[in-house]
Amino acid sequence: MRDAVFFLDTTLRDGEQTPGVSFSLGDKVDLARRLETLGVDMIEAGFAGASPGDFEAVRAVSRAVKTGVCSLARCVEKDIRAAADALAGAAKPRIHVFIATSPLHRAAKLNMTREQVLQAAVDGVTLARSLCADVEFSCEDATRTERDFLYEICLAAVRAGATTLNIPDTVGYATVDEYGELMADIYRRVIGDTDVVLSAHCHNDLGLATATTLEAVRRGARQVECTINGLGERAGNASLDEIVMGLRTRRDFYGLGDSLQIRELYRLSRLVAGLSGVEIPPNKAVVGANAFVHQSGIHQHGVLKERATYEIMKPEELGVPQGGVVLGKLSGRHALREHAMELGFDLTDHELDRAFAKFKELADRKKDITDRDVMAICREQMHGAKGMYRMHSFQIFSGNRMTSTATVSLLRDNDILTRADCGDGPVEACFHAVDQITGLNCALESYHLRAVTEGEDALGEVTVRVRERGSGRAMLGKGVSTDIIESSCLAYLNAVNRILEADAEQDTKGA
Ligand code: MN
Repeated sequence: MRDAVFFLDTTLRDGEQTPGVSFSLGDKVDLARRLETLGVDMIEAGFAGASPGDFEAVRAVSRAVKTGVCSLARCVEKDIRAAADALAGAAKPRIHVFIATSPLHRAAKLNMTREQVLQAAVDGVTLARSLCADVEFSCEDATRTERDFLYEICLAAVRAGATTLNIPDTVGYATVDEYGELMADIYRRVIGDTDVVLSAHCHNDLGLATATTLEAVRRGARQVECTINGLGERAGNASLDEIVMGLRTRRDFYGLGDSLQIRELYRLSRLVAGLSGVEIPPNKAVVGANAFVHQSGIHQHGVLKERATYEIMKPEELGVPQGGVVLGKLSGRHALREHAMELGFDLTDHELDRAFAKFKELADRKKDITDRDVMAICREQMHGAKGMYRMHSFQIFSGNRMTSTATVSLLRDNDILTRADCGDGPVEACFHAVDQITGLNCALESYHLRAVTEGEDALGEVTVRVRERGSGRAMLGKGVSTDIIESSCLAYLNAVNRILEADAEQDTKGA
């Protein structure tokens, strides 16, 4: 058995199935490059047969990275061929075929008998193997499948050429012991002394995804399937950061290595939160904002004397910024670029220009610029669209017993366009005025405001999801400012620009 755990990251596939999350093609390529820097062994880039957008994503990711790339496919010829085609440019391609095996799924979803499911699995794996040397087979809803049938189909898939055998706890139903025993049984009956890799894929419906995954590893699994921040269907998938830190912190217990560069964890986690719009709960293990904060006096005292008294992981090893002032009013462009690089943001010249302008503006308003401020500014830039409209100025008139009105001026090319409108509160009034200028019919689907740092002069970071009613297209937008009305406007404008940019991309593709 191998003495290292292979990480398959499915942030781009299962992670994108998180309600309300969709990554643009550019986001996916960017995330794939960062997952490669993190050192994941395999990136599940999408489900090539599901849509032209997914096909493009798998193809683009395949070309962008040297690490493993896989595409999901049903045990259906069209899906498997689409996966193979999309993966054609990959250095290490893998086709991941799956079929549901539980009685409930066979009857209610597939309308197939056991024999038919078995045959489809064998045919699917055989076809995939004829197109790709690396084939993973998954029995969807494995943990609610009859044991005899599960062994039978797993054996058949391995005989047909599957090189990785994945046992998903699709609905997060298994108890920790149960899943571990199932893994041990499959290891004994199916894997034996072959080179086939047993894989765990756990969901978090009962909050057990990390626990079941780690138990699976203890009982013989050598591939784990997970996502950044535990994104995924419903309550999400097992969280990559928790699994790797479980293995590392308790290496004495698990005795297994991995190939991850954990100093990338924190910033990748923040980047995924930014791109997905799914913020990380402060009390989340490993990467939550409170994970290394000590409140009680006794704990603080202990940590000051010896950090190991209350810390089992070293935050600096995960790339958690160590606070403190990092840049000031007099810092130059070069210092900002250097610092952004250290935080993992490789800005283009254009992005750097905009980030630097923002930084200067912020330095005038806020005394101390910290790592978290720099990250917020960079995140905003990375989220940038080409930007048909730019903010020029706005003015609001608002109070508790009146209708709020806003006058907003936007730049389009070299023209200043100004409109006024009203709304329930100044933020809505601004959004309506922006709609007046762009002529789009937009609905605000979500709005989040958070303070980037402590203190009265903290930056407010706003994340919005905006849907254009005509096309149905929805985009996230981000804005950062010490003024929350301004960050709201910038976020809204960012989302609107991204909608317009996506429309323009589609138009050129259609042509
Ligand atoms: Mn899943």
